[in-house]
Amino acid sequence: MSEPETTVTKASMYVLASAEMMADTVALQAQLAEMFDVMNDPNYVPPPPWEGPPITPEPEAYRRLLDATDNPLIRAVLELHGPEHGYIRHDGTCEWRCEGCEAGGYEWEYPDWPCETAVLIGLRLGVEGP
Ligand SMILES: [Zn+2]
Repeated sequence: MSEPETTVTKASMYVLASAEMMADTVALQAQLAEMFDVMNDPNYVPPPPWEGPPITPEPEAYRRLLDATDNPLIRAVLELHGPEHGYIRHDGTCEWRCEGCEAGGYEWEYPDWPCETAVLIGLRLGVEGP
């Protein structure tokens, strides 16, 4: 009797997973339809690019890392692996990334901040967050 229950459970999980994927697909289709509507609107004027610094605050864990050590070598490595803003969106928001790490060949492939180096230094200094 246990085998059919297992089969039912697996089938139920499959149905649930399929339903979730379909919901994601429907939501994505709605987003795309809205984007195409906007793009096909002859009166559409794109928002101007953001000018000035990003409104997304620099990760405060970075300040905690710098405050946790006076060691010049560690501070130099932290400065190299500090957060840099990438593309600033029209609304002024951005993601923070590490440009001290090797990009995977393209500018947009820099890792998000904190990178592995910042996390490792945080672990060694006992600083939580990064
Ligand atoms: Zn890095």
